[in-house]
Formats: sequence, structure tokens, C-alpha cells
Amino acid sequence: MDNFSYKNTTQIHFGKGQISKLKDEIPADARVLITYGGGSIKKNGVFEQVQAALAGIAHFEFGGIEPNPHYETLIKAVDLIKQEKINYILAVGGGSVIDGSKFIAAAALYPSDPWEIIQTYGAKVTSALPLGCVLTLAATGSEMNKGAVITKAETKDKLFFFSDHVQPRFSILDPETTYSLPAKQTGNGVVDSFVHVVEQYVTYPVNAKVQDRFAEGLLLNLLEDGPKALENPTDYDVRANLMWTATLALNGLIATGVPADWATHMIGQEITGLYGLDHGQTLAVVQPAVWLYKKEQKKAKLLQYAERVWGLREGDEDSRVMAAIENTRQFFETMGIPTRLSAYGLDASIIDPVVAKLEEHGHVNLGEHGDITAADVKEILKLAL
Ligand code: NAP
Ligand code: FE
Repeated sequence: MDNFSYKNTTQIHFGKGQISKLKDEIPADARVLITYGGGSIKKNGVFEQVQAALAGIAHFEFGGIEPNPHYETLIKAVDLIKQEKINYILAVGGGSVIDGSKFIAAAALYPSDPWEIIQTYGAKVTSALPLGCVLTLAATGSEMNKGAVITKAETKDKLFFFSDHVQPRFSILDPETTYSLPAKQTGNGVVDSFVHVVEQYVTYPVNAKVQDRFAEGLLLNLLEDGPKALENPTDYDVRANLMWTATLALNGLIATGVPADWATHMIGQEITGLYGLDHGQTLAVVQPAVWLYKKEQKKAKLLQYAERVWGLREGDEDSRVMAAIENTRQFFETMGIPTRLSAYGLDASIIDPVVAKLEEHGHVNLGEHGDITAADVKEILKLAL
């Protein structure tokens, strides 16, 4: 196991009715900005619960944060914050609303051009408004981590930043809020959580038994409960297990003391930025291709994954590795998320633009060994056609 330091400061309130805890978490004299997306929270009863819990606390609204949140939209919230002397942000939604709110929280106190926050990957952030979250989509883990992904629509740059200052103070996870998700978003969320786990698990062995078994447990939950959520979207236990799995997949816990890949996320981000595919869709396409391309280097962990997650013990090593990759692809398809670029109307003409964006962003030398070059990404994308 590699050395590590670990801290996670987000208070979690998990379960039915927990939105009422807002009044305990947010100071009575706060001036709160409720941030949200395209309006799902106003149709599924979540907004009413939030408003009821905030009774007596001054609050304002900023809606319209789009999926893959745009810098151009978020920056408008900063004006409102200054005008209304807002001093607390409450994000109500999925990863896009939470990520966008992290940017808003930092931008509101940033002394110069807030785009620098993104350009410097968050390194220059020294303060942010306090942020709380009500999560409505199990997927990103943003509710319990310090990362955010923001898109500048004008230039199609989709980039992440990290800062301790934007780690949510608290997050409320009520699985019932996810009952109203469209099937596609349930599928995207399961794929995203799954890929978060394997990016931190299918690398090379470092004898981190705790982290490996934690990762395998999370993957088994997703295999078991992902399809059940599609069949019965209002099964509380299924939604609860998926929600907590997604949070634990990217709250830093399974990242402790192990190498991380993240090539799939880096390549996928550029595909979303340029062509608008959902985050989960890009991962379903790129992950199997990365494994096919890197299967010799990742063999030890792919064999462990094949055995412990898929129960594959028969046949030679190569056939077990190939079966594990194929099973993973089939699982993503079962979740309703196609795993080929062609299924989204994309062809080989995207390869050069995607690689050019990776190079422009300095995202070269990817993977746990830092050895996936631009030339390798081209080969990986050919395997994803
Ligand atoms: P999302 O983009 O937040 O939401 C997708 C769609 O789902 C939206 O149209 C939203 O509608 C809808 N929705 C959300 N909750 C709903 C509910 N309960 N009922 C009905 N509809 C609902 O999806 P996401 O997958 O959570 O977030 C994706 C973003 O997170 C991407 O930008 C990705 O790059 C980023 N990401 C961040 C991290 C991180 O660690 N920070 C990790 C992975 C990915 P409304 O807009 O109307 O609410
Ligand atoms: Fe992700």
C-alpha cells in the first residue's frame, strides 16, 4: 500500500425526510442562494421540501444551471450574490448543479478574473462561500469531494478544478429524491460510479487489500442494483444502495494508498466538451477501449477483477481478461448506455479534434503510469468506434 493522508470534512445526512436537516445546518441569519438546474426539482417535490426547511431563513434562487455547467451561466450568479449580499450557497440537484455551485462559491470571493480558477486547476483559490448540497442524482460523488468540472461553452473547453475551500460543508442524500430520474440518467449515474471505482482499482497491484475489497464491494452493488433501479425506479433500498455507493466511489476513501488511472475521464471529458455526449455515455464508450489497449499492462488487476467481480475462473488468462472487458461492456449496455461512438453518430473524424483538445489542455501522458500519449489515445479511440 502506498503512503497517504486522508481527510473528508463533509457532514452527510442520509435517508428519508433528511431535507428537514437544512434548518440545523444553515445558520438562521444566513442569506442563502438556492442553485438548481433545468427545473426537475420543481416537478418532483424536492424544491417544496427545501423551501419548507428554510422557512424563516432569507433565501434567493438561481436556476438554469445546465448539464455540464457552463462558465457563462455560472458567472451570472456571482452578480446576484454581490447584489443580494448572499453568504451561503445551497446546491439542489445532480453533479452539474453541485459542480457549478462549487465554482460559484469560489468565484464570488475571487479577487480577479474567475476563469483563472479553472486555468490553474483551483490552485489559486484561497476562500469560497460555504456550500451545502441536496443531492438528486447518484453519480458523481461531487456531494462529498472537492472537485468540479466546468465548461466554457464559447471555446468548448471542459476542465476540472479542485479546492479544499469548495468541499461541501454538508450534503443531504435522500434516496427518494432520485425516484423521478429518467432511465437514461439512472444509467449514466451507474456507469459514472462504476468507472470512478475502476479508475482507482484496475491499475497495478500495491497490496492494498482494504481498498481493493472496498472497490469490489461497490462494483458488486452496482451490478446488482443498477438494473433493478431501471426495473423499479421507486424501490427505496435499491436507490439507497446506489446513492451511497456513488458517494463512496469518489469521496477519496478508495483512492487512499493506491495508483489511479483517470485516462477514461480525461478522454471522455473532451468528447463531452466537443460533441455534447453525456458524461456517463463517454465513459461507457472509452473505458472498454482503454482496457483493450492496456490489457497486458493491467493484466494482474484485470484478472483479479475478472475473478472477484465476475466470478471468472475458467480458461486461460487472456480469455478471462477478454471476458471481463466484454461483460463490463454488456453491463453498460444493460444500463441503457451504448458503448460505441457509432451509436452516438460519431466516427473516426472525431479522433484528431479530441486529441488536439487533450494536447491543448496539457492532458498528455495519461493513465496510472503516465505513459498514454497522444498517439495511444488515437489507437484507443479507434477501438471505441
Ligand atoms: P447532471 O448533469 O447533474 O444532471 C443530468 C440531468 O438529470 C439534468 O437534466 C437534470 O435535470 C436531471 N436530474 C437530476 N436529478 C433529477 C431527478 N431527481 N429527477 C429528474 N431529473 C433529474 O448529471 P450528473 O451525472 O450528476 O453530473 C454530470 C456532471 O458532473 C458532468 O459535468 C461531469 O463531468 C461532472 N462530474 C463531476 C465529478 C466530480 O467529482 N465533481 C465526477 C464525475 C462527473 P435538472 O437540470 O432539471 O435538475
Ligand atoms: Fe465521472
